[in-house]
Amino acid sequence: MKILITELIWKEGIEELINNGYHVDYDENLWRNREELLKKINNYDALIVRNQTKVDQELLAAGPQLKVIGRLGVGLDNIDIQSAKKMGIPVVYAKNANATSVAEYVLTALLSVSRPLHFADYDVRKGNWDRKTYTGLELAGKTLGLIGLGEISHRVAKRSLSFGMNVIGYDPFIADYDHIVSETGVQVKESLADLLTESDFISLHVPLTPSTKYLISETELQSMRATSYIINTSRGGIVNERDLAAALRRGTIAGAFLDVLEMEPIHPASELLTCSNAVITPHIAGLTQESQIRTSILVAKEVGKVMKN
Ligand code: NAD
Repeated sequence: MKILITELIWKEGIEELINNGYHVDYDENLWRNREELLKKINNYDALIVRNQTKVDQELLAAGPQLKVIGRLGVGLDNIDIQSAKKMGIPVVYAKNANATSVAEYVLTALLSVSRPLHFADYDVRKGNWDRKTYTGLELAGKTLGLIGLGEISHRVAKRSLSFGMNVIGYDPFIADYDHIVSETGVQVKESLADLLTESDFISLHVPLTPSTKYLISETELQSMRATSYIINTSRGGIVNERDLAAALRRGTIAGAFLDVLEMEPIHPASELLTCSNAVITPHIAGLTQESQIRTSILVAKEVGKVMKN
């Protein structure tokens, strides 16, 4: 049985597959070469990808032996789930394996606003001893608004509540609000507008779907507080980047942390690159040593399970 891996995987995942007798071909840059991938795929029984390989109908049709697709992470927007289903190819993924890492990234963003230690250090090294500029803020008492109340939000909420923050949330697909409140301590809002106006920090944790595309655009940004920050670790395309750049420049909101973008890597002409109040990272919120070992082993095991059946 042959497995093709087209994006970065930790060695523990490859070892898991090889120890179970599979032949593994691994090229972490193959996702960049669509033509080669389309030619190669017909020899393989399984395909393992991260979030860059477009697993669409064309690619699935080019791999008649494919028995399973493994996704190293969560967020299945690069995979045509409907086509895979029609062709009888299961898609397995690393549910929850990087949720703690994403939650800790969000906490890092919150703390870097309240205590900008790196800027203070940079200033001291330039010869200044300016205690006034670097007077911080306390997170305690501030309101964090979580959009989407799934796995990652629960972990962000738990950690933020321990800092004494008020945590509010919006998720129209939650059936049992009382359960969420008692289990997580999050106060659930029935409208997105209420969450936007009441939050000091807004963190997005929804999948990219037709209904979440540009969920945050000009109107939503206008209703946020001028002192507020938005944190997007979910997917590019959920925030309208042009509207966000305009809001950051005008001071409609105070700042943004963006781990995900509509186009990755970021377009060199993106207006966001000119906004000094935007912190942009290369889709690393879920990437820690621990989460990647967990993800790689979990997906290797799940792919193996399907192949054995
Ligand atoms: P999850 O499925 O556990 O939770 C998503 C929640 O969003 C669900 O409760 C759902 O009801 C809610 N939702 C859907 N549409 C909504 C809408 N229009 N308004 C409000 N809520 C809505 O997912 P999760 O594990 O918490 O992950 C969330 C997203 O984070 C993933 O889909 C993925 O795109 C992204 N992610 C990014 C990274 C990274 O490295 N940056 C890592 C992991 C996950």
